[in-house]
Amino acid sequence: MKSKVAIVRDVDIEERTRRAVELIGGIEKTVGRGDEVLIKPNMVGGFPSETGETTDPEFVRVIVEMAFEAGAKKVLVGEGEPFVSMEELKRRFVNRAIPSTEPLHTRYKRILKKTGGKLIDFNADRWETVKVPNPVFFDKIQVARAVLDCDVLIGAPVLKTHHLAGITVALKNLYGVIPRSDKGRYHRLDRVEEAIIDINKVRTCDMVIVDGTRTILHWGRIDEYLETKQLNLTLAGFDPVAIDAVSAKILGINPESLRFLIWAEEHKLGTADLNRIETVGITIEEAYRGKMMTSVEYVNRKFSKIHLLNCGACTGCFGRIATALNRIDDSGMKEDAYIFMGPDVRSIKEKGKVFLCGNCAAPTIYNKRKGIFIPGCPPDLRPLLDEIKKIGALIK
Ligand code: SF4
Repeated sequence: MKSKVAIVRDVDIEERTRRAVELIGGIEKTVGRGDEVLIKPNMVGGFPSETGETTDPEFVRVIVEMAFEAGAKKVLVGEGEPFVSMEELKRRFVNRAIPSTEPLHTRYKRILKKTGGKLIDFNADRWETVKVPNPVFFDKIQVARAVLDCDVLIGAPVLKTHHLAGITVALKNLYGVIPRSDKGRYHRLDRVEEAIIDINKVRTCDMVIVDGTRTILHWGRIDEYLETKQLNLTLAGFDPVAIDAVSAKILGINPESLRFLIWAEEHKLGTADLNRIETVGITIEEAYRGKMMTSVEYVNRKFSKIHLLNCGACTGCFGRIATALNRIDDSGMKEDAYIFMGPDVRSIKEKGKVFLCGNCAAPTIYNKRKGIFIPGCPPDLRPLLDEIKKIGALIK
């Protein structure tokens, strides 16, 4: 049977969200009488929802109301560190005007008050260490107790790109149910995509309703974000992997290039194969609102001496390399650097230092590629950064 994903466009957030949920059979398919429901929105950094970074509180209100209408006894809305002051927000919004004067958590509390739903901070909860069955990398994961205690977990992410993972929608949204120290540790270990799957193996969502009111490019630092696009979409489905595959297509990203999505399918969290996904409502093509800048284009636009060439790479190369390069100052480079990645590297005519990153781009006696080979799948990025430093790049 195909996984079903509803896509609805309407300027009215309530109208389109209710319609999307109806199209997949209604919230009653997961929420029963007397259930305790936990909704996990994306409130990352406390950024106002007008930026496209975080889930609109009105969107969450609609889900809370639908859950109560289906007979839920208790509805909680949980996020890690949702309480961010305006002073803290000003520090994060270095060069941008903040499009709201009310902190996001205050808006959530005010709007949820009318519904009976309650906002909770996972950090004020207990963390539980859980063994991961057949993990991708982490044997054990710490998660918020509330995630384990609820009868029904509903993901309410936003529809947006992510510098490392390519997108952050259904599966990546659960990165918010682990302690802050682990978030940092997984980043330092360069194992974010692995952690996404292992968290979802502990507890994945029973239903995902995506707030596609807006989207934002998420490639560089927050003060460098270039555009927020109004999309007026809601996506809904019971298969978080299918939701991510459809979301990627809507954002103009090939789902097959997302490593974590390939692992998600291997680990039976759902299907990422668009041939096995049925979309209802409008089509992916109708939802797609024109090409957005990719992480690779973002890097190439930012630098004059560094040129990134994506020849069919997955996030293990293009996500990690684009992210690592964001820490570089290329102004003092004596030579141009051409960084190739992916299996489809053809002829190399560039003048300057050529790098072949990752096993897919490896030189062989048949392809006769010439350049400094950075091996690995995914490649170790330290040798690449060291080589670029030798020709004058500064690592910030
Ligand atoms: S080398 Fe590995 S990480 Fe890089 S593009 Fe190929 S498969 Fe992806």
